[in-house]
Amino acid sequence: MVMYDVIIIGGGAAGLFLAANTSGKRVLLLEGTSRVGKKVLITGGGMCNLTNNKEPSSFLKHFGNSDQSNFLKPAILNFPTQKTRLWFESHGLPLTEREDGKVFPSCLQARAVVDLLEHEASRNRVEVRTNAKVIEVQKDDTSNCYLIGTEHEQFQARTVVLTTGGMSYPTTGSDGSGYALAKMLGHSIVSPSPALVAVSVTDYAFTSLAGNSIRDSLVEFFHKDEAKRYNQATGDLLFTHDGLSGPVILNNSGTIRKGDQIRASLLPCSNKEEQRKVLTELISNNPKRQLYTLLKGEGLIAHLAEQLLHSLALTKEDTCANLSKEKRKDLIKLLTAYPFTVSGKKGFNAAMVTSGGVALDEVDRKTMESKLQKGLFFCGEVLDIDGESGGYNLQAAFSTARLVADIIQR
Ligand SMILES: Cc1cc2nc3c(=O)[nH]c(=O)nc-3n(C[C@H](O)[C@H](O)[C@H](O)COP(=O)(O)OP(=O)(O)OC[C@H]3O[C@@H](n4cnc5c(N)ncnc54)[C@H](O)[C@@H]3O)c2cc1C
Repeated sequence: MVMYDVIIIGGGAAGLFLAANTSGKRVLLLEGTSRVGKKVLITGGGMCNLTNNKEPSSFLKHFGNSDQSNFLKPAILNFPTQKTRLWFESHGLPLTEREDGKVFPSCLQARAVVDLLEHEASRNRVEVRTNAKVIEVQKDDTSNCYLIGTEHEQFQARTVVLTTGGMSYPTTGSDGSGYALAKMLGHSIVSPSPALVAVSVTDYAFTSLAGNSIRDSLVEFFHKDEAKRYNQATGDLLFTHDGLSGPVILNNSGTIRKGDQIRASLLPCSNKEEQRKVLTELISNNPKRQLYTLLKGEGLIAHLAEQLLHSLALTKEDTCANLSKEKRKDLIKLLTAYPFTVSGKKGFNAAMVTSGGVALDEVDRKTMESKLQKGLFFCGEVLDIDGESGGYNLQAAFSTARLVADIIQR
């Protein structure tokens, strides 16, 4: 049996970045599916939002809880967003920062990210095997080596890095089988659940708007039968074929329950009361203008404007003067706090990340090495970390991988 210095299990964002950053060692990367980087290819709608412009202190606030932020701190300080950008650009991939601070390859092709990582891994002479799903890992305590088994072959290594991801979008290969491997080596798993998920909505009237979004919608969250909101957030809201998504929903999906009411402004909004006042004045001061034109002028999606008017028994031709005081109140209420009732949250098949994973207190945050097994490391989403949408999760995968690369090359 060939002995490797390092075996990386999982060729996703973390595994590939580790391979692209490890030279001078005999490294084997085992990927369960027919090709590496399947999930990376679908990130950011196929454009790959690979990082963002946040400094470490602000970056770390966008993770599940303070344990996660504390855990990630050494990795992020070692390899912050700035270094990720520099790394990709200095390896020949120009990047673009959007006005919201999200960073993408300038070509807006996730494929370019995967191609670059594969190319660098190959330059480092990393051996990549696809269709090599690992089903067993054991430590041989006499030789201090790991025995790794796929269905067809056995391998041996001094160091093993588990980069098997979470269990969302299992068709990309991240099917949760990495948790079983971690368990075989004595690690505990914090029960996985889908995170960053869209919601479906009861009696949803906006199927035809699927794919449209509202910039900076002010969204309030209410649990069933509770008058007091439990959360409020501002961000982009996306209409899907059966409900709502977009960063403002995804980033707050952890606390949303079936039966909750979500009230969203249908126009960009920072202050609901202020917006109500502005809209009231606008309608009163423009009696001859068609409501439809006025709403579109304020930035309301045309089809949404039509539907709103229709729901109030008004037509596109109605002017502001045609609006009774009562209907004006109703219209403004809908524009500033349109109510949606949550019928359910999407599952792992549609979740962007997994909350839960390898328990963080069993891993040394300064090295990513297991506290239970010497020579065993973890990177990326297989760990109990989950960031918000906006480049946080890929950056966490890159930073944890880079930390391991730095440690194993010492
Ligand atoms: C639709 C979607 C869009 C996203 N968009 C973004 C975005 O724009 N920005 C962002 O920051 N994050 C985004 N994410 C999240 C991001 O993709 C993940 O957090 C990131 O890929 C995690 O990297 P990873 O290497 O830990 O796991 P993965 O990239 O999931 O890779 C794990 C790899 O391990 C392999 N594997 C699993 N088990 C085994 C096994 N037993 N043996 C061998 N191989 C195995 C899998 O096949 C897979 O290739 C998105 C996620 C989804 C689903």
